[in-house]
Amino acid sequence: MLTSSELIQTIQKYDPNVNVDLVRKAYIFSMEAHGMQKRASGSPYFYHPAEVARILTEQLHMDYTTVIVGLLHDVLEDTNVGFEELEEIFGSEIAFLVEGVTKLSHIKYTSSQVKQSESYQKFIIAVTHDIRVLIVKLADRLQNMRTLSYIKSEEKRRRIAIETLDLYAPLAERIGMNGIKDEIADIAFFTLHPNEYRAISTKLEHIRNQDNNFVQNTILELQKVLSNEGIPCLINGREKTPYSIWKKMQKRNIGLDQIYDIIAFRIIVQSVKACYAALGVVHTNFRIIPGRFKDYISIPKLNNYRSLHTTVIGTGNQPIEIQIRTEDMHRMAEEGIAAHWSYKNGDLIGKIGEAQNYAWLKRLIAIIKNSPDPYEVLDNSKLEMFDDEVFCFTSKGDLITLPKGATGVDFAYEIHTDLGNTCIGVRINDKLVPLKTVLKNGDRVDIITSPYQHPEATWEDFVVTGKARSCIRKFVKSQEKGEFISLGFQLSRYIFAEMNIQFSEDLILYEKFCCDSLTKFYYNMGKGLIPLKLFRSTLLNIEGDNIIFNDNSICLIDFIPDIAVHFSKCCCPILGDKIIGILQANKGLIVHQTTCRSIEESYETFIRVKWNQDDNIETSFMARLQIIMLNHKDSFAAITNIISSNNANISNLKIEHRTTEFFSLLVDISVTDVAHLGEIQAALRACSKVKSVKRL
Ligand code: MN
Repeated sequence: MLTSSELIQTIQKYDPNVNVDLVRKAYIFSMEAHGMQKRASGSPYFYHPAEVARILTEQLHMDYTTVIVGLLHDVLEDTNVGFEELEEIFGSEIAFLVEGVTKLSHIKYTSSQVKQSESYQKFIIAVTHDIRVLIVKLADRLQNMRTLSYIKSEEKRRRIAIETLDLYAPLAERIGMNGIKDEIADIAFFTLHPNEYRAISTKLEHIRNQDNNFVQNTILELQKVLSNEGIPCLINGREKTPYSIWKKMQKRNIGLDQIYDIIAFRIIVQSVKACYAALGVVHTNFRIIPGRFKDYISIPKLNNYRSLHTTVIGTGNQPIEIQIRTEDMHRMAEEGIAAHWSYKNGDLIGKIGEAQNYAWLKRLIAIIKNSPDPYEVLDNSKLEMFDDEVFCFTSKGDLITLPKGATGVDFAYEIHTDLGNTCIGVRINDKLVPLKTVLKNGDRVDIITSPYQHPEATWEDFVVTGKARSCIRKFVKSQEKGEFISLGFQLSRYIFAEMNIQFSEDLILYEKFCCDSLTKFYYNMGKGLIPLKLFRSTLLNIEGDNIIFNDNSICLIDFIPDIAVHFSKCCCPILGDKIIGILQANKGLIVHQTTCRSIEESYETFIRVKWNQDDNIETSFMARLQIIMLNHKDSFAAITNIISSNNANISNLKIEHRTTEFFSLLVDISVTDVAHLGEIQAALRACSKVKSVKRL
């Protein structure tokens, strides 16, 4: 295994300012955090992050910060270490980068549809505020692919291979990291299509063996003609990977024999001028195949790939592809964006400063900006490209795309209408949060449901998706109708009982109230559209058999709050208060405290209501307190502490008056019942900062 000293030595070769202590600390920290964990191969888990760090240094020459992130990249996900601890020990930059990699690891890509793959790719770029997150993730994927065969479950191997081909290989290509792209795509291809892989490999071997010295002879010949013209160069021959051959065969629908560039020869020269000079030499010494010349130096590819390509007839009448480029272009072709990290204008840069960061960031932005995808709108300062979308996960790792500003309720409805309709709470990244909390990229969202929960009309104020909105509206509408009918039914029984008449639906002459059915009558009754006086008078002539109801009050717990039954805003009754209901046209029943001043005029429509105390359903009520307290700097804290230590939430807080000595404060708190409110009032009065407490 790579030791910390070896790792540090490798970094020092290109980054002399490496913080040796910090790298060593990260190495030991990660090793200890992963402890006895094992990989599928049976080796200690820590081998994996250590190998990722090796890739980041040996292959990609990344700065030491990124190497540390490589060492730590799995500790948030797989060990007990938390974000705060990382931040404290390694600083916020490293902690945020590790968190970014962790977010990417929540992805579990299953679909193989092009559209899905695109939206996953978009997601990855959207959460990658810093390109180093993506670079570490690609190094992580490379290491995982190298050890893929150790995973026992074939299904899992295939899933990872599909994810690699659909997501990570295109991403690596997109940012120009062709070295990594080739390797991971090839392993994935072997995993998914072993027979095709073997067939192509066998053929490649056959071609190679036809003329043992074909590659060597070609290199020698090229070297000879170029040095005759005084062009110093390095030449190597490189076989195409089985995957890229297979892809080309599929794309062009051709056989292996028709692929010219199975072996490409790379001529690496010292300057751009030398590239064109070398091209001229090649074209004068070998017969060129028309239509195969491409100048990616004048017109680079979108991922900034630069090179000259040409195909000529070489030794033994074989077509050969030749790529001509400078050392810089070569590095860019292999390492892509990573090549910009420590090099600039071909010179090794010791100090990784701000300017350096901007160089590659600008470059990346330019690359993505020029990509043909019209959705990609870029903010120039960061990689927030998909400003109008937010990407979140289910606990199973499925990706859910929502418009920006979406909440847990939108998320629930996006998955299923029933999930939205029974949603009672939302957990984001294992933390319980209010329903209206706005989701952020990479959030893992769990919806908590309860069969007793119903959508509330107020949800409409914070949802953003059309689906959530229309579901809530539809539900509230249907519920509303049911609630009014049920209230009307109870009101009818209430009036029968009040008049000592045995309840019978036959006695309700609904036509008299312009209703075509009993249901319609109940509905109108519940809505307060039937004058109670008139209804009573239609019942007056009926002889009551006996007294049926001793208690004819209406039980509140049968109703969903705020649909047909409302708690008045003027006196805010809470469980345990003495209450009375007033039927109000189109609104239903409004419940007041019996002491409320605003009810005096409307005696005629009073309805007796009662709390249902034996139900265990947890409810909460809003109560408003007026607190007069001393104008001290810690008075506020004292009050909020008392309230929260008594298990109540403050939902609103307002300063009414303020003098040099006193504050008058209005506080809305949610309480379970009168007794609960009483405890809080008592606790507040006991506080030395508080002068008086009054319920409003
Ligand atoms: Mn990993």
